[in-house]
Amino acid sequence: MAVKFKDYYEQLGVKRDAAADQIRQAYRKLARKHHPDVNPGDRIAEEKFKDINEAYEVLSDPEKRKRYDQLGANWKDGAEFTPPPGWGRVNVQFDDLGSIFAGGGFSDFFETIFGGTKSAAQPNQGRGRGRSRPDRGQDAEAEMEITLEDAHRGGRHRITLQGSRPCSTCGGTGATNGAACATCGGLGYTSVPKTIDVNIPAAAREGSVIKLKHQGQPGMNSGEAGDLYIKLKIKPNQSFTVSGDDLTAEVPVTPSEAILGASIEVPTIEGKAEVKIPPGAQGGQRLRLRGQGLNKRGGGRGDQYVKLKIVVPSHPTDREKQLYEELSEASHFNPRAGWIKGKES
Ligand SMILES: [Zn+2]
Repeated sequence: MAVKFKDYYEQLGVKRDAAADQIRQAYRKLARKHHPDVNPGDRIAEEKFKDINEAYEVLSDPEKRKRYDQLGANWKDGAEFTPPPGWGRVNVQFDDLGSIFAGGGFSDFFETIFGGTKSAAQPNQGRGRGRSRPDRGQDAEAEMEITLEDAHRGGRHRITLQGSRPCSTCGGTGATNGAACATCGGLGYTSVPKTIDVNIPAAAREGSVIKLKHQGQPGMNSGEAGDLYIKLKIKPNQSFTVSGDDLTAEVPVTPSEAILGASIEVPTIEGKAEVKIPPGAQGGQRLRLRGQGLNKRGGGRGDQYVKLKIVVPSHPTDREKQLYEELSEASHFNPRAGWIKGKES
């Protein structure tokens, strides 16, 4: 179950490394400002007051603060949050908050990471998600790089990911002798490499997602494992650029091939093909090879385009130079005719 992550540091307006008295000062200032007695009937102030009290409950208690910090600093306030496997099994002592909370208890997020409520006001025994009822593992995400040919044809690929399994030192509880387990840092699980064979369907695309059922994080108390989502990334290809189902290959041709026309061989996604260059072809001109593009999801294929690039020899031979000189004398072709005012020929 995902809950909204709460950034307790942000709520109190303190840095993550703030000292205990900085936290206390920040809390007192905010508590005075948002206290229900000062803001009668103000629902927003009431919510805010609850938030800062919850934040203070956690950050003022070294044990709870340490546990909260284990979640890492990369979470954003309000983001969808699912606790790591093994989470919620550590006994945390709860202070009695007395009458601070007029109505309602802690947030779902608080209960998810500490497994307690105000009314429980006691260690996390016998309560909380995942204690005895089967709990489904988290879904996991991974990215996989494949070639354009693989995306076109599909195929089987093997990837190695970081999986997790219950920590053998603490048996997944995250604690040994009442302290955070040194092996897993209190998380209750350790990372292990995991190798998976992935079947890539034909007609995959950049950003396509493959779902592998039950290959995510393991469940708890015989709960089923979560799913694994693999996002495909296509490696840059030497010959082709991709646009939807279509491919474009830029193909170099000589000036004489462009002028006289020619039949040349070009690469395709499945090998090669003969292409006829029409006489008088221009640089940048695109020729279409119908149905030679990428496989489409529903069958059929896109097109391939051949984009002509006229290339001249950088080190012409004496004979070539002589012939180009003769051509230059004989030719009346002026591609810049009328291009610059007053310089027409
Ligand atoms: Zn452990």
